[in-house]
Amino acid sequence: MTRSSEPAEIKLVFDEPVLRKKSPRHIADFSPEDRRAFATELGLPAFRANQVENHYFTHFASEPQTWTDIPLEMRDKFAELLTPTLIELVRSVTCDNGMTRKDLWRLHDGVLVESVIMRYTDRTTVCISSQAGCGMNCPFCATGQAGLTRNLTAGEITAQIVAAARACALGELPGGSTRLSNIVFMGMGEPMANYVAVMRAVRNITDANPHGLGISARSITMSTVGLVNGIEKLTEEGLPLTLAVSLHTPDDELRNTLVPINSRWNVKEVLTAADAYAAKTGRRYSIEYALIRDINDQTWRADLLGRLLKNRNAHVNLIPLNPTPGSKWTASRPEAQTEFVRILESYAVPTTVRDTRGREIDGACGQLAGAEKQKTTPAMQIPK
Ligand code: SAH
Repeated sequence: MTRSSEPAEIKLVFDEPVLRKKSPRHIADFSPEDRRAFATELGLPAFRANQVENHYFTHFASEPQTWTDIPLEMRDKFAELLTPTLIELVRSVTCDNGMTRKDLWRLHDGVLVESVIMRYTDRTTVCISSQAGCGMNCPFCATGQAGLTRNLTAGEITAQIVAAARACALGELPGGSTRLSNIVFMGMGEPMANYVAVMRAVRNITDANPHGLGISARSITMSTVGLVNGIEKLTEEGLPLTLAVSLHTPDDELRNTLVPINSRWNVKEVLTAADAYAAKTGRRYSIEYALIRDINDQTWRADLLGRLLKNRNAHVNLIPLNPTPGSKWTASRPEAQTEFVRILESYAVPTTVRDTRGREIDGACGQLAGAEKQKTTPAMQIPK
């Protein structure tokens, strides 16, 4: 039996800086077959794993007291062994009349991560973290400034999604009970640098009940800084996820600064990998572009980006920069943004500007986390 979160066969670029006490093992760390072996290893009959995964994925970690297919006196014990608590809510902050909620979670070793639930009229999306911190060091991103603390396990990633699914089912956001429909890997961390755990979490999302949540791969967005070996591996999976590439500028010179991993895989290499992904999956990919005033929002850069993307199966998602505390950079002027969009559209490149859902709780939550940890928790980027 292998644990899906170790050792990452594609441990990209950065290793965990310190040896930590391992996170508790959880059925969500394993494939459905390995869950049975996990139960056996714990001295339980294998079928107990199937009962518990059903409770976890179909009823969203409902209270063990309600697990009527398991003898009363064993319910708590089984829950503790197979579905130990991996994330504990520290606090939630809401905005947009309650339709956006950011949850701050503490993991078993005290590490803090965030997820955000966003309810729209036609869908409900959760934005989740794949790592505590991030090793990619992009200077405009708050998460990058703190560095990488550690990878999350598949169970810890999945737990954020299950918690969101549960909140939706329980009608915790205004509008009553609903179904979690979309998952975006746009919280803290670089998902392609924690590949094995992230893919186990993806399978937990896409596998049908009772093995998983039964949410389609098309409803998942995987956002990457552009780790080409990760994109290539993802292409081999043959899953129609939506791939989002954080390009932020079309030229290598500036990208070496904005996205430092560009010195390892440049713009051309990243786009070639994304093209191969689109060809294999038939899915249009998304180019993420944070518009930063006077840094990457010049008309000539819009032209260069238009020329680069015009014959590609890609669309551009412009993100008004969300300034991080202490940063000298800010969002583009409205005129510059409008002109940027116009130029891209003149190349027939589909372009959207991300809405600013949850902007005001970025700061609020940072303050909350700061109070917890004496340091600012990164602002998460809220997808459209
Ligand atoms: N590591 C992944 C996912 C993390 S964040 C990635 O880089 O894609 C999701 C998106 O938010 C990325 O495109 C990231 O570049 C962007 N982002 C980070 N900080 C930002 C900020 N301050 N303002 C606007 N977008 C930001």
